[in-house]
Amino acid sequence: MSNLVLSSPLKGWIAPLDETPDAVFAERMLGDGLAIDPLGSTLHAPCDARVIAVHGTRHAITLRADNGAEILMHVGLETVGLGGDGFEAHVQDGQAVKSGDKLISFDLDLLSLRARSLITPIVITNPDAFQIVRREQDHVVSVGDFLMELAPMGEATAVSPVAGGEVVREVVVPLAHGIHARPAARIAETARKFAAEVALVAVNRRASAKSPVGVMSLAIRHGDRVSVVASGPDAEYAVIAIVELIEGGMGESAALPPTAAAPSRLGAVVEAVRAAHPSEPGLLRGVMAAPGLAIGQAVRFLSSDIVVVEAGTGAANERAALEGALAHVRARIEKAAGKGDTARKAILGAHLAFLEDPELAAAAHRLIADGKGAGFAWRRAVGGYVEALRGLGDRRLAERVDDLIDLERQVLRALTGEEDEARVLPPGAILLADELLPSQLMGLDPGQVAGLCTAKGGPTSHVAILAAAMGLPAIVAAGPGVLDVAEGTGLILDAEAGTLRIGPDAGQLADAQTAIAARHERKAAAKAAAHQESRTADGVRIEVFGNVGSLNDALAAAANGAEGSGLLRTEFLFLERDTPPDEDEQARQYQAIASALDGRPLIIRTLDVGGDKAAPYLPIPAEENPALGLRGVRVSLWRPHLLKTQLRAILRVRPLLQCKIMVPMIASLDELRAVRAVLEEAKRELGITERIELGVMIETPAAAVTADLLAAEADFLSVGTNDLTQYVLAMDRGNPELAARIDALHPAVLRMIAQTCAGAAKHHRWVGVCGGLASDLVAVPVLVGLGVTELSATAATVPEVKALVRTLNVEACQALARQALDQTSPEAVRQLCKAFQAGA
Ligand code: PEP
Ligand code: MG
Repeated sequence: MSNLVLSSPLKGWIAPLDETPDAVFAERMLGDGLAIDPLGSTLHAPCDARVIAVHGTRHAITLRADNGAEILMHVGLETVGLGGDGFEAHVQDGQAVKSGDKLISFDLDLLSLRARSLITPIVITNPDAFQIVRREQDHVVSVGDFLMELAPMGEATAVSPVAGGEVVREVVVPLAHGIHARPAARIAETARKFAAEVALVAVNRRASAKSPVGVMSLAIRHGDRVSVVASGPDAEYAVIAIVELIEGGMGESAALPPTAAAPSRLGAVVEAVRAAHPSEPGLLRGVMAAPGLAIGQAVRFLSSDIVVVEAGTGAANERAALEGALAHVRARIEKAAGKGDTARKAILGAHLAFLEDPELAAAAHRLIADGKGAGFAWRRAVGGYVEALRGLGDRRLAERVDDLIDLERQVLRALTGEEDEARVLPPGAILLADELLPSQLMGLDPGQVAGLCTAKGGPTSHVAILAAAMGLPAIVAAGPGVLDVAEGTGLILDAEAGTLRIGPDAGQLADAQTAIAARHERKAAAKAAAHQESRTADGVRIEVFGNVGSLNDALAAAANGAEGSGLLRTEFLFLERDTPPDEDEQARQYQAIASALDGRPLIIRTLDVGGDKAAPYLPIPAEENPALGLRGVRVSLWRPHLLKTQLRAILRVRPLLQCKIMVPMIASLDELRAVRAVLEEAKRELGITERIELGVMIETPAAAVTADLLAAEADFLSVGTNDLTQYVLAMDRGNPELAARIDALHPAVLRMIAQTCAGAAKHHRWVGVCGGLASDLVAVPVLVGLGVTELSATAATVPEVKALVRTLNVEACQALARQALDQTSPEAVRQLCKAFQAGA
């Protein structure tokens, strides 16, 4: 292979990588190269190549030259945080480019204001395969001038899957979304069962398979060829186990889960919010992370910097100090993980997995061996991964950054002995912070805090999930203005409106107080009347049920006055485990839930996996469009033994007729007939002759428009508005960029519900709604007007839904529904509904 000459992609000053103020580049964690301080604003191709990846926020690009050299060009530092602002990509992934072709244009003025630095590293990311034999130094270059020359290292030095003494097998990754956090953790868990050293090698980069962070940072995608390489006593078995795990797909044919927004996507949402609301003095706008309204005073929650000393006091000392600190933090997290709600436990579990990552510890120990202090080494080790994860532009990986930073801080605190002291907060504290870390929020007493607002952060970050679980109104991404608010300033935080009012006047305070009082009163009155039967003001029975996903949910639903459950999501029993629950286990769990509902009706939905819900023992083949693939009833009919087991378990619940069965994702009558056939078989086996009601979920447009055909054979129909909206509007329900537009009050969705009710009425079947729209108080009158007679809401909203139903008159609701169907947008429908409820 001959040498490759790279020409300068950019006009600017050449600088050595060491001068880059960023350890990831300066320490060559991503590879060797050089940096350019730009004088031009367009990045060009330095050689003929193919684009491997234009990073999500267009601030960086990776190319693969025809000889295999991989070149990462990263415009400016920490520019991922600009969320794509000021960048324009001229190429896309997979495209072939010629030397000198335009790749990315950027706005130099904007970057010089908002980026940490403009310096642009150009790095060869497969240094095991290529070395730089000549490079330009310290002067100005123009686009196309000589930049550097690379020589292949020869087969022996390149990372090779056939290196001596190692067992190697290749596998093509079938996981639809590549190896992200969850599969990386499973690979690490499996690898750690073996004594052998095990590594994954992908695109000539290598990471220990025992390190979830290392595996994640390989950014392995669907279809990538990965070598599993092991050496040591049980190497062969380790390789087989990991290859089988990857080949099996780990059930990951799923669509992107609805998790944290990528900085770019969140940036777009924030920008859209800001564009729609011109700035107003004394008002900051952000994005709701947890609902609620609060009046209080500003408490600035600024984390003091922890100073670490670079030089160590001897490797043995520093090693022992680091080990001690890690053990201390681990013990504290393990203790905390033993109590609290599921959200809190899951987050602490993720922290433990990271804390036990051998690569992180190894990176820190290497620095200690080089004479660095334990704190310095730990910060550097974590920092390297933080930058690498941020730079990948993948929202699921970027989401883990907060957790790593949190651990960095906790371990440093343990090392310095300066534990975060519990702060005594003034009454009505509204916390203002740049970003809050999960452990900081968990350390607060929710009774002392009225709400929180952060300059950065995402609406579905771990902090947002915790705030919601703690019942704290929260706004994120409100911008740097948050940090300018003086301690003690009076504030009104309106999370639903996404606003923080600074120094409100007496009138604004009085309005907020009235709104809060009215809310409290409304909730208290609703709660007090929660156990009364639900009927409209004109006496029509509308059942208000609660959605349930566990025994605790069932208890909460019953306590909140739910008159039954219109949806038991049985997935809770099937996910996050290696084998499916057997008939006995299922029967026990369904019985416990039925008993918690104390004889009230319980509608058990058959397994709804696939799509965004993956079960490892059901390796659904990789799918281009998982939301349109094997999911819901299609999975049950694909594996009928699972369906039969589930139906038999449901049939064992007593009293027998308390349970009804409901089938998800129905697209045609044939599917209902097939399920009924299995149900009849299960009944025969168990000697049951009573009629067990079997209903269908209306979640596909096909089911809605053929509701009359389905109703001829189904005992009831229940609209899953979450999926129905996704499929009617062709908008992914998990895509944060579409979150503001995917509204089930869209007239098209309402027309589908109207058609469902009309089809059901032909056969005197009832229609319920168990999707999110049933918990939306604005929507309830329209649903009643369309003919829905059962609403299955979240347990927390049941009292308010019941209270609202009591105020309704069905004829007025029908008139409202007719008008709603003729609106041209969901916004118009919402306005109409709000005016209806305001009595206008
Ligand atoms: C729905 O789609 O509205 C529904 C209730 O099902 P899930 O949210 O579990 O997909
Ligand atoms: Mg659904």
